[in-house]
Amino acid sequence: MPTREVPSLADLDPRELGSGATPTPGLRVLIAEDTASQRLILTKQVAALGYEVVTAVDGEDALAKVEQHRPHILLTDWVMPKVDGIGVCKVTRASDAGNLIYIIMLTAHGDEDHLVEAFDAGADDYVSKPIKPREMEARLSAGKRVVELQMALHREAENLQTVNTNLAVANRQLFDFAHTDSLTRLPNRRYILDRLKQEWSVHTRRLSPLSLILLDIDYFKAVNDERGHDVGDIVLERVAHIMRREIRTEDTVARFGGEEFLVITPGIDLAGAKQVAERIRVNIAREEFTFSGSSWHVTASLGVATASLDAEGYQGVLKSADKALYCAKSEGRNRVRP
Ligand code: GH3
Ligand code: MG
Ligand code: MG
Ligand code: MG
Repeated sequence: MPTREVPSLADLDPRELGSGATPTPGLRVLIAEDTASQRLILTKQVAALGYEVVTAVDGEDALAKVEQHRPHILLTDWVMPKVDGIGVCKVTRASDAGNLIYIIMLTAHGDEDHLVEAFDAGADDYVSKPIKPREMEARLSAGKRVVELQMALHREAENLQTVNTNLAVANRQLFDFAHTDSLTRLPNRRYILDRLKQEWSVHTRRLSPLSLILLDIDYFKAVNDERGHDVGDIVLERVAHIMRREIRTEDTVARFGGEEFLVITPGIDLAGAKQVAERIRVNIAREEFTFSGSSWHVTASLGVATASLDAEGYQGVLKSADKALYCAKSEGRNRVRP
């Protein structure tokens, strides 16, 4: 029966090997050592300290296992076949899998030139051969501290990312909340005025048509007075629904005030906007309301205006739409006026 080279933790007696070992769950150490006896001794010692151990028999094997096992700490011998410890350091440092690994070089050459060469290649620390177990434990502890700090930083960065994402979602919800009318779920006055400014700048840049429709429900006060405020609210919701249904996707409708609604129709001239307004008017007048046995209808008046070169900004077009609405009211209501 072949002898197993890498003992499992169960085979080891911590009392014999490492003193006061703090188990480090999940911290992996890759031991790259070509001499079998040394590899076995190191494996036993490191495993007894509570680390998960992976071994490699030469430099090439070490590089493959860095990729495969993603160790947190790499203990690498200097003199090894195929690729030496310096080569292992350099390639590991240059890889995605290895740029954060804590590398400890095992070396028989303790002179200054060799140490500088090891650090230049990317080593974080070194241990001189022959290896003294207490020194090895101390060097590993130092490495473990660095690795754990890195892991904590990484978690912190991930948490920050989550916080940022949640914040972006909350901001979006806050924006929607601040720009939506709670009764009709339509955009509110604040939203549509912002939108109008944007559409106005598109209009002036491209000289594309831009029209507005301002709608006001007729004798709405009477609905409230005769049927109650709750019924009034239902009428507002129903009118909002009809308006949303009758406009194009590129148009915007908002609740502009109590029982007033504003539609922006970009790219549509006065004649086109009058058609849209007429469609809305007819559909509102057609809508039958039935409450506690009686059915009735409501009507609305609509003022239409379109942006022209002599209009004084978007406020000017809005003013024109308001004047047109006033005409529709004074001419008897339930009509569209330009
Ligand atoms: P006109 O045809 O001239 O427009 O008459 P009107 O009665 O519609 O006009 P007026 O401006 O006098 O009345 C608007 C009413 O709309 C008064 C106000 O109480 C009501 N109102 C405003 N907001 C709401 C709301 O959210 N719910 C309900 N139920 N009523 C509202
Ligand atoms: Mg060697
Ligand atoms: Mg009104
Ligand atoms: Mg009204």
